[in-house]
Amino acid sequence: MASPSSIPIMLAHQEYNYEETPTTSLISKPPSLSSPLKNIKSLTLFSLIFVSSLSIFLAFHLISSSFSLSSVKARSLSKLPHPVVIIFSFDGFRFGYNLKTSTPNIGRLIAEGTSADEGLIPVFPTLTFPNHYSIATGLFPPYHGIINNYFPDLENPTDWFSASNHDPKWWLGEPLWQTVARNGFNAAGYFWAGTEVKKGAWTCPPKFCPKYNSSTPFFKRVDDILEYFNLPDKEIPILSMVYFEDPDREGHIYGPDHPEITKAVANMDSVVGRLITGLEKRGIFEEVTIILLGDHGMAGICDEKYVFLNELAPWIQIEDNWINSAGTLLTIQPPSGVSSAEIVQKMNEGLSSGKVGNGDMLRVYLKEDLPERFHYAESNRIPAIVGLVEEGYTVESKRKKTYECGGSHGYDNLLFSMRTFFVAHGPRFAKGKKIHSFQNIEVYNLVTAILGLKGAPNNGSISFPNSVLLKK
Ligand SMILES: [Zn+2]
Repeated sequence: MASPSSIPIMLAHQEYNYEETPTTSLISKPPSLSSPLKNIKSLTLFSLIFVSSLSIFLAFHLISSSFSLSSVKARSLSKLPHPVVIIFSFDGFRFGYNLKTSTPNIGRLIAEGTSADEGLIPVFPTLTFPNHYSIATGLFPPYHGIINNYFPDLENPTDWFSASNHDPKWWLGEPLWQTVARNGFNAAGYFWAGTEVKKGAWTCPPKFCPKYNSSTPFFKRVDDILEYFNLPDKEIPILSMVYFEDPDREGHIYGPDHPEITKAVANMDSVVGRLITGLEKRGIFEEVTIILLGDHGMAGICDEKYVFLNELAPWIQIEDNWINSAGTLLTIQPPSGVSSAEIVQKMNEGLSSGKVGNGDMLRVYLKEDLPERFHYAESNRIPAIVGLVEEGYTVESKRKKTYECGGSHGYDNLLFSMRTFFVAHGPRFAKGKKIHSFQNIEVYNLVTAILGLKGAPNNGSISFPNSVLLKK
């Protein structure tokens, strides 16, 4: 087992450029005039007047738009003693789902808030637990330790991590609720991955950290969060992170393009509506920061899109007990004494031979040879061999009897289908603003900046909050 100190943390990660797209562009030449003016002098005069007017207009527009952008300040609080952030995570809410049907409440937060124009980029692997814990810690999975939804301690293979394992040895880094507690404030962790793990100043107080129960109605979760505002000022959690299982459930069963998804999306919109209404009744809708996001997207899968590892037998026999994870993310840990490099070489030889069904849809790597952008090597919890699966394909050890169509995720995090959404509304967010897509490891610094807390070291960019938030 890796100790936290053995896992390096990269500071001020600068891989992505979050500079804003200019909202106005300079026109280098005037548009051509289509009207057939006969008098060349008139044409010249007209052109001069037109170009001059256009230049004055553009100059004024540029000055006024830059003036208005820089002059918009964060709105001040009059009812709440401290900034408050509520984050709702909708599992598997693929980017664009909100356009499948009428979503007036999400639409209102987009119109009156700030949103990522092409969605929020998950971390690799695009699975639920790694991503929820990256959002919470600002760390890539090797550094926060949750490298899959289910995985063994490779040094003690009978010891497996699973969703319900709350032993702090698995959960590295400092999640937001712990940061808030360390700074002496209350936080609420409502079913979010990792909140039930007691770490540092975070004790998972029952009032703000209910035991996970998937049958708890969504409206009850919202109502419980709203109830916190009835507490004395000093006890109100300044951060609430709430998890909702939909529309991931429907996505897996039906795939991303099914009427059941549309229904689930409409339902999630009503959850947002309940939050807005509840905050409005208390007169604090404009003061509380609401962040809506998801953990990953969803891709359609179907029966013929499989790669079966037993078809590689002429090149290499992959034993079942070597496979830590299959499906959309293949990870293999061969026993000691078996060369991982040789397995990779033989597997890729077989996969590219044209003799393995859909073989060209899977490529395997020694983890240290994965492209760096995956950030999926620097942990001894990650098995030696990692297979990248093409969108919509699934890897299994051998053919089973029946397959059905549906949806899945776990693929390359740069696939558009794996993106989720990001919408934020509150005193520090400009109204109707679109920002570029960004990776979810940036959320940690964004939230600590809004709350005015000193955060823990993480993989997010230090400059990101300034590029998004209104100045105080
Ligand atoms: Zn998920």
